[in-house]
Amino acid sequence: MEMIEIDGPRMVASRVALGTWAIGGWMWGGTDVRESIRTIRSAIDRGVNLIDTAAVYGFGRSEEIVGKALAVGGLRERMLIATKGGLEWRNGKISRNASPARIRQEVEQSLRRLRTDRIDLYQLHWPDPMVPIEETAATFGELLKEGKIRAIGVSNYSPAQLDAFRAIAPVRTIQPPYNLFERAIEADVLPHAVQTGTAVLAYGALCRGLLTGKITAATRFNGDDLRRNDPKFQQPRLAQYLAAVSQLDRFARLNFGKTVLALAVRWILDQGPTIALWGARRPDQLDPIGDVMGWSLGRDAMREIDGILAATINHPVGAEFVAPAASPAARSVA
Ligand code: NAP
Repeated sequence: MEMIEIDGPRMVASRVALGTWAIGGWMWGGTDVRESIRTIRSAIDRGVNLIDTAAVYGFGRSEEIVGKALAVGGLRERMLIATKGGLEWRNGKISRNASPARIRQEVEQSLRRLRTDRIDLYQLHWPDPMVPIEETAATFGELLKEGKIRAIGVSNYSPAQLDAFRAIAPVRTIQPPYNLFERAIEADVLPHAVQTGTAVLAYGALCRGLLTGKITAATRFNGDDLRRNDPKFQQPRLAQYLAAVSQLDRFARLNFGKTVLALAVRWILDQGPTIALWGARRPDQLDPIGDVMGWSLGRDAMREIDGILAATINHPVGAEFVAPAASPAARSVA
């Protein structure tokens, strides 16, 4: 496993981290607790020492499952737990709330669900236009001083928002969407992170399964699975993305003896101070981790990959559809 140091609190994290949104069940068609726990422990066996969760995932369920999985055998001490707050939910509808009172309340609830006395990395989940950044940042700074959290991160932030937060409290990580198909951060967030030594936790590393090579035009999703509404999974756009996946897979096999999945995760790791958040809910989904390590993509390969993307995808679309409502009155994604 390749490792990266998160500046400041001297935390050394694995460059592949386990993402546990799907493990919470909500927006992923349900969850299986025993299988989820086996997945978390399997990730640890494979050298992963960072787990990303959030209070809102499964409305507390994901955090509870992470807490339960790490509660035995001294696992908690071996792991870094990253969680997020600043969203609230009512009757299945979510909205942003980064007020000091909400953050304080959420930290206490997250600590309890995670069965721990400190959160290694506490992240603001989404910017909240209703609350001044300085107020949220001051609360995060207090939590740091109190020892309830060891490091601060932000998610879905612009560089300007990051700077405003950082003027009040130290920010060590930023968590944006980033994968071969969702590259908006290359224009601003990524160069800013490189310049400021901020680690980038890239979410949706597999583009919600699209970059694994297992999705076909016939794939169907159940229940509340977000991919039923994900613009990339709708025709005619889906056909373009599937053509890209197929060509990337051929390219990876011919040039590196790898699959498109390994290529996709390697590509993220080769872009800078990045950590790939890999969402998995079954142990076997983590089997390819080894294929990602110990090689890299050169400039020529990067150029060829860009050529494949440009030739296959005419109407690229980002990950904006996951954004929650900015205020309780507005519509939610759920
Ligand atoms: P992802 O990692 O791109 O994709 C996860 C899905 O890919 C899994 O649920 C699984 O789908 C499929 N998959 C994983 N490994 C596979 C394999 N080996 N073979 C075939 N399919 C495989 O998407 P994500 O979970 O949305 O993103 C990763 C993490 O980023 C999240 O869990 C969360 O921690 C974080 N995140 C953060 C934000 C934010 O706003 N900060 C937003 C989104 C995500 P099936 O189980 O259905 O097969």
